[in-house]
Parts: sequence; structure tokens; C-alpha cells
Amino acid sequence: MYKSLKDRYKPERSWPANSADPFPFEGDIPVLQFINTYRNRGGIHRKDYLENYEDFLTWCNEFNIVDLEDYNTLNFEAYCNPHNANPVWQRTIRLRETIYEFINSTLRDKQIHEDAVTYFNEILSEANAHLRFELNGNSLQVMWFNTHEELAVPLWILVKQATVLLQSAKFRDIKKCHCGKFYLDTTKNKSRRWCNPLVCGNAVRSREYKERKMKLVVEIEGGC
Ligand SMILES: [Zn+2]
Repeated sequence: MYKSLKDRYKPERSWPANSADPFPFEGDIPVLQFINTYRNRGGIHRKDYLENYEDFLTWCNEFNIVDLEDYNTLNFEAYCNPHNANPVWQRTIRLRETIYEFINSTLRDKQIHEDAVTYFNEILSEANAHLRFELNGNSLQVMWFNTHEELAVPLWILVKQATVLLQSAKFRDIKKCHCGKFYLDTTKNKSRRWCNPLVCGNAVRSREYKERKMKLVVEIEGGC
């Protein structure tokens, strides 16, 4: 079955996958960029960029979670086994919203749900079951094992990256832009205001400029 499918399978990959509406690149680090794949969460104009496993895999390749070789292997695997790929995609979305809950609740000083912690631990222990120490020369290195053709590999890589972020000092540098996207403020005096100064920064600056101008007009007219 695999052989005939392989003959018919032609991976088509362009970058970015959708040039008309590419994945948001704001976020500075992959874990935050992952969370930002859901735009306007809960709003009327919300948009989820990860609508299936293929979207997720494409995103993972564009944001260097998996290289092109792994992308092609997993893409073929998902093509052959959509009934396996779909549950992985569903777990991916749940993991994304779990990490979102950790960050958003912390920023808003809200209680994190116990269920979210349980779910995160579930995916984390799955990932840990595929990690072990290996000898590299005479030094020990943590390496992935038994991951070939495992559709959940990108999910495990992300949960490990999220674990590092949750425990690092960087976690306190996470900010939420007025547009809803998360970013990392690593400036010395914590003065960064926008996820993307060229988009959100310019929009706010031009609005503030218009407001100042209007105020001036009102003051001049009021003074006459
Ligand atoms: Zn923004």
C-alpha cells in the first residue's frame, strides 16, 4: 500500500505557504509565535492559522521546529494516515491553548486551571519518554529516540521548548500587544510597547498623531 501511495505522492512546498496571508511572524521566539497563530482569540474577526495537521506541519517547517527532510517524512505519513494525523492536530491546538492559558493568566494575575497543568504534563511525559542520554565522544547528550515517522514529534519539541520558557527568566519578559499578540520584551528598561513596531507601532503612532492634531484644532477654535 505504501509503495503505490509513495508513487502518487508529490510533496508541494512553497514558502511562505500562503503568501496572501502568511503565518504571523511576531512573537520573537517559537513558543510565542505558536500562540500567535490564533489571531483575535475570542473576537469577531478571529482566525486560526492552524486548521489541520498539514497547516501545523507547514508552520513547524517555516519556524524551524522541523527541517525539510522531517517535514517531507511527516507530511507523507500524515497523507497516508489522516486518521492518525487529525488527533495529533487536535492535541496540538489544545496544547497551544494550554500554554496560552499559562501566559495569559499569569499576565492578568488570574488562577491557572488545574486541568491545563494536567494536560501539559501529559504531553510533556510523552515527549520525555522519547528522550534519553547518549554518549557523544565522552560527553553525555540528551537526544530524541524512536521518533521516526512519529506524527507527534513537532508537538513534543514544542512542549519541551515551552517547558524551558516556563522555567526561564524570559517568562517575566512576556508582554501582550494591544493587537493581542504576545512578544518578548528584552529591552533594558522594559520599554517595548508593540509586537511589531512597523505594524502595530506605526498604527498607534499615527492614531496618537491624529488625536493630538484634533486636540490642537479644538483648542484653537475654542480660543477664538
Ligand atoms: Zn501588535
